[in-house]
Amino acid sequence: MSLVVMKFGGSSVGDAERMKRVAGRIAERKREGHQCVVVVSAMGDTTDDLIDLSKQICTIAPPAREMDMLLSTGEQVSIALLSMAIQSLGLKAVSFTGWQAGMYTEAVHGKARITDIQPERVIKALHEDKVVIVAGFQGMTEDGEITTLGRGGSDTTAVALAAAIQADVCEIYTDVDGVYSTDPRIVKVARKLDAISYDEMLELANLGAAVLHPRAVEYAKNYNVKLVVRSSFTYNEGTMVKEEAAMEQGIVVRGIAYDKNVARISILGVEEKPGQLAKVFTALAQEQIDVDIIVQSGVLNGQADFSFTVALSDLDKALGVIESIRQTVGFREVTSETDLVKVSIVGAGMVSTPGVAAKMFEVISDLGISILMVSTSEIKTSCVIENGRLNEVVQALHTAYGLDTDTTAFVGGPAERR
Ligand code: ADP
Ligand code: ASP
Ligand code: MG
Repeated sequence: MSLVVMKFGGSSVGDAERMKRVAGRIAERKREGHQCVVVVSAMGDTTDDLIDLSKQICTIAPPAREMDMLLSTGEQVSIALLSMAIQSLGLKAVSFTGWQAGMYTEAVHGKARITDIQPERVIKALHEDKVVIVAGFQGMTEDGEITTLGRGGSDTTAVALAAAIQADVCEIYTDVDGVYSTDPRIVKVARKLDAISYDEMLELANLGAAVLHPRAVEYAKNYNVKLVVRSSFTYNEGTMVKEEAAMEQGIVVRGIAYDKNVARISILGVEEKPGQLAKVFTALAQEQIDVDIIVQSGVLNGQADFSFTVALSDLDKALGVIESIRQTVGFREVTSETDLVKVSIVGAGMVSTPGVAAKMFEVISDLGISILMVSTSEIKTSCVIENGRLNEVVQALHTAYGLDTDTTAFVGGPAERR
């Protein structure tokens, strides 16, 4: 008998029929003799719908605490319904919210990190032969405040819980049947990976590949959790995320990711003196705003310009912070751009192969598209471009790096039997 954590995303439980099908899938696992802990997301587009509702109520950014109070309800609906569905199949089940399952987080709203897990109730329920269903994406601070883990955070709940209860495997069930060389919704002939290393998966996830939440991969790596991504609609073999993954001959770029959650801020005419960058980025960090690519231009007449990217969802907050330090820093003007996307190529083999980044620039410029910003590391190169022609760019890069296959990727679809 093994202990399995199964995580089902929003599209897998999008309506009552899908919820019942997921319950059937869990019952199969249970009847095979495994102990099952299930983490589930909010149904379908519930989280987006709740965000839209808050925007209809608030003209400025909604209070972060109340936003977490609101968004955490989505997962609570799912756990109750899934527990009912499993019990209807004649199995014992119990649902727990994040706080009932002992998920403690730091006191940050909207993207809290898990600080501690006290899974006693989960373990007790497993001993009572119950399927334990835990709400993804949510936790509680030491002061009893509800928090959420950031969009896509149910993956992190699942992996962190798997580590805490020492599960044998953490299975992430989603609407594609594994991790592909790029988003199979954009490139139909994307390549399914049998395995991918934690480091490459972490890079892809950080660069926008929605299939796994970056913190989930971080957890899996740090606690050596056996992690599998597979489809909730088929029984196809999934992708194993693990320490080392063999590279196919001749493949240098393992994957291509994109992130539309990008905005560029430019601060123009900044008085040139030591410590200016530090002032700006310290002020942003104090408000939990992550800054990504930073570019500073040369100094002219004692003034410099610099540009950087932040998450689009943080743009208004970031502009507010910069306005608040206008006097202390001293600058002429602030501008911002949206409707951008960051496209990235990732592969551990890049470090030892010259010309990989150059090829990316060439492919993009052959399409007549301007590259607005670039950043590189040992295993990735990212370019910020205008969003309009994203699909074309991803497809062209996929072909240029020899990643196209002759089979069509599996995306969504009805249940298939074994
Ligand atoms: P869930 O609701 O199950 O958490 P998500 O929408 O968060 O599902 O993640 C699955 C989606 O991730 C897929 O439908 C696919 O469009 C997208 N995706 C992006 N990059 C990749 C990739 N490299 N491999 C597989 N899926 C990817
Ligand atoms: N429901 C949350 C979201 O839509 C968390 C998740 O699905 O993982 O982002
Ligand atoms: Mg997800």
